[in-house]
Amino acid sequence: MTQSSSWTLYRRLLGYVKPYWHYFSLAVLGYAIYAASSTALAEMMKRLIDGIQNPDASFRLFLPLFVIGMFTARGVGTFLGTYFMSNVARNVVHSLRCEVFNHMLHLSGRFFDAHSSGHLVSRVTYHVEQVTGAATKAVTILLREGLFVIGLLGYLLWTNWMLTLVFLTVTPLIGLVVRVASKRFRRISRRIQSSMGDVTHVASEALSGYKVVRTHGAEEYEKQRFARASNYNREQSLKEALTKGISTPVIQLLVAIALAGLVWLAMAPELMASMTAGEFVAFITAASLMAKPVKQLTEINSEIQKGLAASQELFGLLEVPPERDDGTILPTRLEGHVSFEGVRFAYGDDQPEVLKSIDLDVTPGELIAIVGRSGSGKTTLMGLLPRFYYPTEGRVTIDGIAINEYQLSPLRQQIALVSQQVTLFNASIADNIAYGVPDANREQIKAAADSAYASEFIERLPKGFDTVVGDNGVMLSGGQRQRLAIARAIFKDAPILILDEATSALDTESERYIQRALEEVCRDRTTFVIAHRLSTIERADRILVMEQGEVVESGTHAQLLERDGAYAALYRLQFQEVEA
Ligand code: ADP
Ligand code: MG
Repeated sequence: MTQSSSWTLYRRLLGYVKPYWHYFSLAVLGYAIYAASSTALAEMMKRLIDGIQNPDASFRLFLPLFVIGMFTARGVGTFLGTYFMSNVARNVVHSLRCEVFNHMLHLSGRFFDAHSSGHLVSRVTYHVEQVTGAATKAVTILLREGLFVIGLLGYLLWTNWMLTLVFLTVTPLIGLVVRVASKRFRRISRRIQSSMGDVTHVASEALSGYKVVRTHGAEEYEKQRFARASNYNREQSLKEALTKGISTPVIQLLVAIALAGLVWLAMAPELMASMTAGEFVAFITAASLMAKPVKQLTEINSEIQKGLAASQELFGLLEVPPERDDGTILPTRLEGHVSFEGVRFAYGDDQPEVLKSIDLDVTPGELIAIVGRSGSGKTTLMGLLPRFYYPTEGRVTIDGIAINEYQLSPLRQQIALVSQQVTLFNASIADNIAYGVPDANREQIKAAADSAYASEFIERLPKGFDTVVGDNGVMLSGGQRQRLAIARAIFKDAPILILDEATSALDTESERYIQRALEEVCRDRTTFVIAHRLSTIERADRILVMEQGEVVESGTHAQLLERDGAYAALYRLQFQEVEA
């Protein structure tokens, strides 16, 4: 971390303060009042001593009033500073947090493949709070005590500038200690923050997968894994405490040595002679008042470095480019003429090709079934349509236009996808079906549920459509969840529908229902059905058999049986299973 990049970080953080500059100014004003009134203490000492030596009547009244005035000013200053600084800090954290979260919602599929959700969650919870520490506590102390130190130094200079310059000779030494400590703080903070991500990650995995953990008797294993993550965090936190524990007293010692030198010089007979007793006491008071703010200032460095490390991480995340969205064409309702032209795809430059030269032309309204062994690339192929990934070669068009030329979000509006893993939100059934559509029409929701043969179980639930389904739908069976997901896709009423093993969790009876529903739903839309149970797709207009990223056979059920190839073999295999 070079000095200049620290500065860039500060500047960028300061950018978040800008909209709240009026609160910030109030806080600075508050701290200035605080610093001025605290510095006045030294002046009061001078008046006190001088007053004792030459008492008069006005002096008796002046002193108590001075005390009250000073503390009133200090109180007002403290209030303005504390409250408005918190106000700025909480606003900064709020904007930063929302910005990070909003940005994450637009990152590409590849990004999510590469980052664990635990780490991402800890960015918007832990990391952002670390920035608050720097923004509230550190800035507060920096301003309040920093201004106080400046005030005291000013007073000292005014009283005796030569002595003060002596005092200032230690500053380069202090600067050196601060620099070394800062680097170390930053490095350790980064580790601590990333280890918090590990802690969140391990905990959420083990807790959400509690059934697997229990049935495999992996409690001990998970405990150890968690203890390791937490222990690393402990070690690093201790290192931070050690650095702080050493650097703070070293700096304070330096200041104390400077103060001692100052006092020693101030007591030189020649100097004593030129000052009044009051001036001398004021000078020593001001110098000793310096101890507390200097102590506090030395303690905030770790806080600031924590905040900088966290904001560096957050800014790094904000710089990850969002999903490509350079299309300009706004699709109105698409016909659903989908075409894959020489499409090849690999998940990474160093990874094997998952799709090899796919050529496929689908007429609007066609029902296409895709079968093939697991890992043959079916899900990957379908993932290209909503542009979760981009082909490495070739292109995909819808209605004759390359999908890259459509605006991203409106394009996705045209595609309804029910995937292998059903995602339900912890909201009511109605909200899950009409996901993303506030104030949806109840009749339409019911109609979608009817078509997905979901109404039957929904109506038996205690609150019907208003039943809250729990975390990812824990209150429902696998088949019920799938039917809800299908209802959601039907509700969306998109011209292109993709069902990726959407019926795998259904029993034979509900599957038959769903099959009937599908015939209804498919009628005026292009539908892709990926299914393992071949009985589901016998009536498809065309069946594609995929093997290792290639379409090896295509035709209707009857044609493919006739051909006696891969499909026929698969079919016989399942038929035997049913017989057995
Ligand atoms: P299918 O849906 O036919 O079972 P997939 O399309 O899911 O197959 O997977 C095809 C291949 O791509 C598999 O070999 C799988 O390991 C790989 N794959 C799938 N998703 C990813 C991913 N996000 N990153 C890297 N490889 C992946
Ligand atoms: Mg799949």
